[in-house]
Amino acid sequence: MGRVSHALEYRCIGCMDATVTREFDVSHLSRTCPVCGEFERFVNTVVVERFDALAADPPAHLHWDQLDRTRKFLIAERVSRKDHSIEDFETMGPDDEDERGADASTGAEA
Ligand SMILES: [Zn+2]
Repeated sequence: MGRVSHALEYRCIGCMDATVTREFDVSHLSRTCPVCGEFERFVNTVVVERFDALAADPPAHLHWDQLDRTRKFLIAERVSRKDHSIEDFETMGPDDEDERGADASTGAEA
């Protein structure tokens, strides 16, 4: 039981209220939220921090205000987890989401 020091917190992006703690480090989990009741994405707090930073000072080319919430988190995940340049996201299409969801390094059933 020596792994608790690596426990990571994940936050529901539906309500931004519920959190869960897991001992593995992934970009997000998908689980039913005990607070809002939705089957929702719980993102790593590292991603939440990146999201907040982007929201505070969004690069103009992203058209941040026009993105839906899930897409914003997807961008934040990719920037924070994979060392992508923010410039990579200009042409990101809707199909990208599924492709990335299949990546072994992201996502886990909780
Ligand atoms: Zn929730």
